[in-house]
Amino acid sequence: MSLNGMVALVTGGAQGIGRAVVHSLMQSSVKVAILDMNQSCGEKCKEELDLEFGEGNCTFAVCDVSNGDALRDAFQRTVDTFGQLDIVINNAGINNEKNWGKTIEVNLTSVIRGTYLALEHMSREHGKGGGIIINVSSMAAFFHSPHQPVYTATKHGVIGFTRAMADASAEGNYGVRINVVCPAFVNTALLRSVEREDNMGKFVKFKDDFKSRMDKFGILEPSLIAEGMIRLIKDTSLNGAVMKITSSKGIHFHTYEPMSA
Ligand code: NAD
Repeated sequence: MSLNGMVALVTGGAQGIGRAVVHSLMQSSVKVAILDMNQSCGEKCKEELDLEFGEGNCTFAVCDVSNGDALRDAFQRTVDTFGQLDIVINNAGINNEKNWGKTIEVNLTSVIRGTYLALEHMSREHGKGGGIIINVSSMAAFFHSPHQPVYTATKHGVIGFTRAMADASAEGNYGVRINVVCPAFVNTALLRSVEREDNMGKFVKFKDDFKSRMDKFGILEPSLIAEGMIRLIKDTSLNGAVMKITSSKGIHFHTYEPMSA
């Protein structure tokens, strides 16, 4: 499946995993709208991408995904600029147990809002031509740790929401595939925040336990997560898939028991 000429929107796209998938998308000739609340990082990222891929192939907008109006405007601006929207990656996330309400807003509420906005612009329900959504969860949804209880809850929520929406899309004939990716530890700024009291609050005392898990399970590079996401985009058979990415097994899928009474 060629992605040439498609248009993507990536939240939290200025650095880390988001930045890696933006790069992979642009290598496949996708035009990308990068949303991020970090202005300096986003501007630098756009400058570098303009140099590599030429101007006019990506935009950067400062956008706090937890601000519903700002997110709605950013989606609309993307369609106004590029004329269409085909791929949405709800990637922005934080790891903050001290301000746990904000963690729920960014990691869960904004993923829900981003999915609904994506459907408004891509779903057949709204007279559009279809598309692909990827929501970013974490292996934290499978291996809970005392270090990040609310982060873990949000990542469970993202999986449940995505699977239910994938069913809604299939049954409602939205023409939109909705999948979720669950990376293990990845070498990004977020991972380095786990040692800070202002992020982790009282749970910072469990940081050594957390770091020993990193030693045990290893740390992935963002490029591997981008590779997994491109697979989710290109494999047209995937809807409601829960992709796990770990050091020991690489890119693979979680399987669930069939539903029974
Ligand atoms: P990162 O901190 O490197 O990048 C996250 C980006 O999101 C940053 O550019 C940041 O400015 C942006 N962002 C944060 N809050 C935002 C907001 N309210 N509005 C807009 N942008 C915002 O982190 P990362 O590791 O690349 O994380 C990306 C996603 O991957 C997150 O959802 C995270 O939970 C998930 N994840 C990360 C790991 C890991 O070990 N790094 C593992 C599993 C899942």
